Amino acid sequence: PLAFEKPMQNIKAFKDQLSQPRKVVILTHFKPDADALGSSLGLARYLKKKGHAVTVITPSDYPDFIAWMPGNEEVVIFQKDKPDRCAKLVADAEMIFCLDFSSLNRINEMGGMVREAGAKKVLVDHHLEPEHFADFEQWDGTAASTAELVYQLIVELDDQALVDGPMADCLYAGIMTDTGGFRHSNTNHKVFQIASDLVARGANPYKVSKLIYETNSLERLRLMGYVLWEKLQVLPEYKTAYIALTADELKRFGSQTGDTEGLVNFGLSIKGIKLSVIISDRRENIKLSLRSLGDFSVNEMARAHFQGGGHRNAAGGQTNLTLEQTVKKFLDLLPQYKDQLLAD
Ligand code: 5GP
Ligand code: MN
Repeated sequence: PLAFEKPMQNIKAFKDQLSQPRKVVILTHFKPDADALGSSLGLARYLKKKGHAVTVITPSDYPDFIAWMPGNEEVVIFQKDKPDRCAKLVADAEMIFCLDFSSLNRINEMGGMVREAGAKKVLVDHHLEPEHFADFEQWDGTAASTAELVYQLIVELDDQALVDGPMADCLYAGIMTDTGGFRHSNTNHKVFQIASDLVARGANPYKVSKLIYETNSLERLRLMGYVLWEKLQVLPEYKTAYIALTADELKRFGSQTGDTEGLVNFGLSIKGIKLSVIISDRRENIKLSLRSLGDFSVNEMARAHFQGGGHRNAAGGQTNLTLEQTVKKFLDLLPQYKDQLLAD
């Protein structure tokens, strides 16, 4: 049977909160990935079945390869739809669920609105070092995905029977992508138990992986080819690989939101490499995506130097420097991490 190490502490009070129909807002992080959107839409569908009025808000747009998820058509996008509408939804909400992010700065301008809102706040997340802004926390830094924690919450509320095919597909998508297709070091027994439950309740693994991993545009494949052939740099003396992409290069390949996702893993797949980074010029800022193997913590690196964070082996951050300055900053950091990078 499923056993959870970190159950919600005040689950009884949480149940009480949900014992009457509530106006609910579900929020997830800027540039949501499949776990962010899948856990949000899965939870939304569940709460709707329980009779609540639910709106999912994302701070920004997200890639097409996750837009097939059931409930996608009702998502309100802060950057695209009227910000006033989002402000009103947040201010009027009785409960706000914050999914797949652990500090309010991850939702940009919306962070202040949530902080000031009168609603009861619920954090459901697996990122390290969470900010404790919520009234209820379903947090577990050892969970591979937020989707798992949404499933855990539904189990704690004794409502597994309400999980249907569309809900299961959304949650399965989050688990599949945050484990890199059941390949990363976070892939454990519980991941398979929950994934198995979801399949039993109607998730379709073939459909979900096809929709997420095998719906590339030709431009995206060309960008991948270009990056591998011309842009991937390897520094064996630091067991490090990196890629720096200019705004013009991204434009040249007609890059859409999500097109660079996964590129950072190519660097990490090289034998002997322990740290891989992609640095891309998004015009409004410079975005970094970091991956590591073993004990080397990119969460620490992103937090200490790039206004970011995440997990030990997968993190992100940004700078307001130029691309060149950011690359230099990253390269200049390597000597101080050399011992850690070369250990074992
Ligand atoms: P990615 O590199 O795929 O964008 O993100 C890897 C992990 O780091 C994800 O769990 C993501 O939520 C987190 N992450 C990405 N960017 C940031 C950031 O700017 N700040 C923080 N705190 N986490 C980030
Ligand atoms: Mn996640």
